[in-house]
Amino acid sequence: MSIKIFNTLTRKKEEFKPLNEKEIRMYSCGPTVYYFAHIGNLRAYLFMDNLRRVLKYNGYNLKHVMNITDVGHLVSDADEGEDKMMKAAKRENKDPFEIAQFYMDAFLADIDKLNVDRPEIIARATEHIDVMEEYVKKIIENGFSYQTEDTVYFDTSKLDKYGVLSNRNVDEQKAGARVEFDQSKRNISDFALWIKAPENHIMKWDSFFGKSYPGWHLECSAMGYKYLGDQFDIHTGGVDHIPIHHENEIAQSKGFSGKTPANYWMHVEFLQINGGKMSKSLNNLYTLKDLEEKGYEPLVYRMFNFTSNYRAQINFTFEAMDAAKVALNRLREGYLKHAEGNEDVSDEAIKEYEEKFLEAINDDLNMPVAMSVVWDVVKNPNKSKKLQNLLLKFDEVLGLDLKNYQKQENVLPEEITKLVQERNEARTNKNWAESDRIRDILIENGYTVKDSKEGTIVEKQ
Ligand code: AMP
Ligand code: ZN
Repeated sequence: MSIKIFNTLTRKKEEFKPLNEKEIRMYSCGPTVYYFAHIGNLRAYLFMDNLRRVLKYNGYNLKHVMNITDVGHLVSDADEGEDKMMKAAKRENKDPFEIAQFYMDAFLADIDKLNVDRPEIIARATEHIDVMEEYVKKIIENGFSYQTEDTVYFDTSKLDKYGVLSNRNVDEQKAGARVEFDQSKRNISDFALWIKAPENHIMKWDSFFGKSYPGWHLECSAMGYKYLGDQFDIHTGGVDHIPIHHENEIAQSKGFSGKTPANYWMHVEFLQINGGKMSKSLNNLYTLKDLEEKGYEPLVYRMFNFTSNYRAQINFTFEAMDAAKVALNRLREGYLKHAEGNEDVSDEAIKEYEEKFLEAINDDLNMPVAMSVVWDVVKNPNKSKKLQNLLLKFDEVLGLDLKNYQKQENVLPEEITKLVQERNEARTNKNWAESDRIRDILIENGYTVKDSKEGTIVEKQ
């Protein structure tokens, strides 16, 4: 069955046609490792994982590169402000290389917890400075740049068109610019390819431009080229990459080889919190660890993300997380329920479920519809191993690790066991008010409470 994906380049849903049937080559813009990833960032990697899994489910092999930005990303995407790594180094009074190692490890641990299928190649910018230097030299040689005292700029006026993804022309950009652009640039959309390092700049390398460092956009072009060639299938990122970072990647590639690097460009929309932006100042910026501390296992956050298509914004609330927690539990229970049975489910019925699921995931990763098929399977009143195997198959895309799920024994947290003992004592002493008070606390904590001859019996709802 064909896969349809929405291509930002053409602004259309298109049938996916790989360059090589045997192996799909793709590139995903990865994190800048200057702080812990927040759950908005993590949505981007859950989308990346979802795409990987859908392509694999369709039988494709993948060669997929994700970069780790550990140098050169200024505070704004448009070459303004300080280098994010340097800023973090000052904040934490550490070497920027140490910062990069620490937050890269934390990022990889987070995506592992979310059961993200890791790309085949994870490439750190600082380990590819030579590759970037070769790449930029060719852009310079091809006449797509100019040099000021401290920066080599890409000259966007040398292109047939700059702004192919966001479909804006340079005049529109000028009109929309918030600040006067740096006067050393010839055109507002020009951007830094290589930058001379100021005296106190720690991350710098000896290069054709003296002690210097690459512009942020260069790493993706250069590493994409190194591992995937000058044209590959899919390029992914967040919607924030469309107007600058990805336009600049395309510009660089045009300057380097005359080609647009990828045929399909896919972008994931942002996660919102309570209908608004996430920010430190609003005190609503959460990491995966924050969610864990609030009692949500990472896979609950994964489940939550299936409630929306990747091209739509998703609104994070703790109510929605509670619903995702219940849903994940229901799915696991359904999986176990079907393990017990040998009731008859026809091969036609299985085939129909499979077709509907495949149709949904191949329709630009329509996970809400795919999940509705999953629920139909869970709710099928006939307990059947065939249905269990089907859920296992679907889990290749869902990534909820069903095969390792076993029913948890009813192990109670210590404080709950203590409350149960106190309630039993209260009942022995016929202190009904105290017994009722403790019962209410147990219920508030999500337990059902029953009285038996042996005393209080509690169970997690
Ligand atoms: P950064 O580490 O800042 O370069 O961002 C890593 C990724 O997270 C990028 O692909 C962004 O597009 C993405 N991103 C940032 N904020 C959000 C958000 N609120 N929702 C979804 N993706 C986001
Ligand atoms: Zn990138």
